[in-house]
Amino acid sequence: MSTAPASLFDKIRIVLVNTSHPGNIGGAARAMKNMGLSRLYLVAPKEYPADKAVWRAASAVDVLDGAVVVETLDEAIAECGLVVGTSARERRIPWPLLTPRECGERCWAELEQHEVAIVFGREDRGLTNEELHKCNYHVHIPANPAYSSLNLAAAVQVLAYEMRMAFLTAEKGAAPHFDDWDMPPAKQQALEMYYQHLQQTLEELGFLEADNPRQTMTRLRRLYNRTRLDEMELSILRGVLTATQNYIFHSKK
Ligand code: SAH
Repeated sequence: MSTAPASLFDKIRIVLVNTSHPGNIGGAARAMKNMGLSRLYLVAPKEYPADKAVWRAASAVDVLDGAVVVETLDEAIAECGLVVGTSARERRIPWPLLTPRECGERCWAELEQHEVAIVFGREDRGLTNEELHKCNYHVHIPANPAYSSLNLAAAVQVLAYEMRMAFLTAEKGAAPHFDDWDMPPAKQQALEMYYQHLQQTLEELGFLEADNPRQTMTRLRRLYNRTRLDEMELSILRGVLTATQNYIFHSKK
């Protein structure tokens, strides 16, 4: 049987946000182990630990045992260089979109460089727009338009399967290459700090109203996200913001 170097599969994390039914957590753990994945992150699960999760996990209890429970999505994706959010339906502001196959290929092409997260939403409401806007790409499983919402663990299964298919292709040496770049891409936590710094500066400039920054910040996030900023570029942009804030501070004196 084919196994990837443990370290590469270990760089993929499956993140479940605010899951209601522990059975789905167990089902997701099983789906992951079947496809060679092991790193499960649970963001504020409603009911966990739970017997139902253990029961549904069957022989993947080790994945549950290793699951990391955190309070916020930010904590779950902080060190990731690539974050993909899943969505059962189209959203108002479209985001760069991947098919499940492209998602597997993209992840596998970037795994050497950094950690990758695939984020799944709540059974009843999916991911919030705010959560989706923290992702580099969105992925939609092209299901029956008359009923496109899969069970959570089933959705994990589909994307984990595509991850495995991409691994098997990569193993044959036929994987698409991630362009060589002189700097690593900015990580999620650094990007989040940049967006906060940007919003704060734009408010100080009087360009953004503090009480209604929403759509503009979303569009700015999308703009920066399209370029996949690297660490050096991000640090230059932070410097520009700091210089702008200093200028505002001195001109007000
Ligand atoms: N009623 C919710 C559906 C949530 S289904 C909504 O309208 O958003 C629970 C989770 O399973 C979703 O958040 C997503 O992570 C995953 N999922 C279900 N169907 C999917 C699909 N067709 N494509 C991608 N992810 C899907």
